[in-house]
Amino acid sequence: MIKFLDLKKVNERFRGEMDVAVKRVLDSGWYLLGKEVEAFEQEFAAYCGTKHCVGVANGLDALSLIIKAYGFGPCDEIIVPANTFIATLLAVSANGCTPVLVEPDWDTRLIDVNRIEAAVTSRTKAIMVVHLYGRAVEMEKVWEVARRHNLKVIEDSAQAHGARYQGVRCGNLGDASGFSFYPGKNLGCLGDGGAVTTNDGELVAKIRAIRNYGSDYKYHHIYKGMNSRLDEIQAAFLRVKLHHLDEDNARRREIAERYVHAILNSRIELPHLPPDFDGHVWHVFAVTCAQRDSLIRHLEDRGIQTNIHYPTPPHKQGAYVELGGASFPISERMHREIVSLPMSPVLTNEEVSKVVEAINEF
Ligand SMILES: *Cc1c(COP(=O)(O)O)cnc(C)c1O
Repeated sequence: MIKFLDLKKVNERFRGEMDVAVKRVLDSGWYLLGKEVEAFEQEFAAYCGTKHCVGVANGLDALSLIIKAYGFGPCDEIIVPANTFIATLLAVSANGCTPVLVEPDWDTRLIDVNRIEAAVTSRTKAIMVVHLYGRAVEMEKVWEVARRHNLKVIEDSAQAHGARYQGVRCGNLGDASGFSFYPGKNLGCLGDGGAVTTNDGELVAKIRAIRNYGSDYKYHHIYKGMNSRLDEIQAAFLRVKLHHLDEDNARRREIAERYVHAILNSRIELPHLPPDFDGHVWHVFAVTCAQRDSLIRHLEDRGIQTNIHYPTPPHKQGAYVELGGASFPISERMHREIVSLPMSPVLTNEEVSKVVEAINEF
């Protein structure tokens, strides 16, 4: 069977290094906000090219903490793409803000940068872009609209560790960025984890305090904060895996290239490639197909697992009944036709060939 993602195999490769990391944490006897988190924060900031990084409990908290630290709340609107994982919207709602949805562009599958300005109102405070599937948003237009209307640019980089736009890494393309280290992400830990990257020293100091009960030093609380910390053991794992992120992303690109060149089937539309192919980190390789469900069955019959990212658009979810009346036909069609093929750094060439063969047969 060809798994959609074989996480055990992904992490098994680093068993030796991870054993060393675990031993280091056990020997230290220190479990929260210690040397491992500090070191990871520095290493990940350096990797993204930002001045600061702060480790938090997960990706949703990372995004939510950014909005909270900016002080956005009820009556404020934040622009988000209409096709994204629900967490993007939940981070907005968690702060009492209203998510304002913008249609994606069919080809890039990312927020349509030419539709953002029409969604700006007097209440808009920020544009939250999502570098979905590991492809960076074309930021030029986003920056331009943000400048004109004095908006913050927040990146949801949960699927884009290492991705680049004009040579600059995701995480360093806006005012602040949220990352997730959920096990299945390109940089995943062995549990939950997340981080915020930014060049804004004031913002990062605030987030550091809020993630730790709003405390700037022990038992001194300047904000009504929360408990959202990255723990030492996950930080130690992440330090190991960060070393291998670039080679893993390169392997994902190699697989994407094979898929793109070898899949030949008029019923299947392949992802359009960005101008900078090397900037894409292929968290997900999603194709579209009008007969999506029979394609999935066809692959399943041949022992190939697929996934749908995502079956239901956010505005059609029960959690967002208030948006249910709205119509986002491009997003809706995308959710109807999209299917993700197996993609991971441990997928072998032989497996890729089998997937290609099965798809071409369809
Ligand atoms: C995974 C993901 C998140 C949430 O991250 P968690 O660590 O699971 O909370 C947010 N946005 C996007 C686009 C994601 O893919």
